Amino acid sequence: MIQMKEKNQSQALPQLDELYKEIILEHYRKPCGREPLDKVDFCAEGMNPLCGDEVKLSLQLKDNKISKVHIEGHGCSISVASGSILADMLKGKTIDEAKNISNCLKNIMHDKCTDSKIDLGDLEALEGVKKFPVRIKCALLPWTTFEEALIGHEHVEIS
Ligand code: ZN
Repeated sequence: MIQMKEKNQSQALPQLDELYKEIILEHYRKPCGREPLDKVDFCAEGMNPLCGDEVKLSLQLKDNKISKVHIEGHGCSISVASGSILADMLKGKTIDEAKNISNCLKNIMHDKCTDSKIDLGDLEALEGVKKFPVRIKCALLPWTTFEEALIGHEHVEIS
């Protein structure tokens, strides 16, 4: 009889596809968006008390596009990776494009149909998280924080 060797699962991550897990860990180890901005156009802070994730997001606009993204905070690998992917993806996007990506991710997490024209890139790695409802908040935290930043932004005049 062949003895099946148990796979060595990472402590911090739920059981995800190996490839996706690798993408998440890669972002976790070397997160994007850590360089400070010289000018902040809008920002917001978010937290997920269930897991202890905290995120502070700042964005800089130029010519109606998001030119720079800064994200800091701490948390589990999923929230940090999601924030890193956000920082990477939103650069160069218009606010509307950024909102579409955010909505698309939320739809995926809540198993609703999505606009398949949107290229999700590394965000696809987070899709497996939806099988673990407790961790969905971790994956969405940077994105809900982004949306909060936008709400605040709409009430602030930019000089
Ligand atoms: Zn978390």
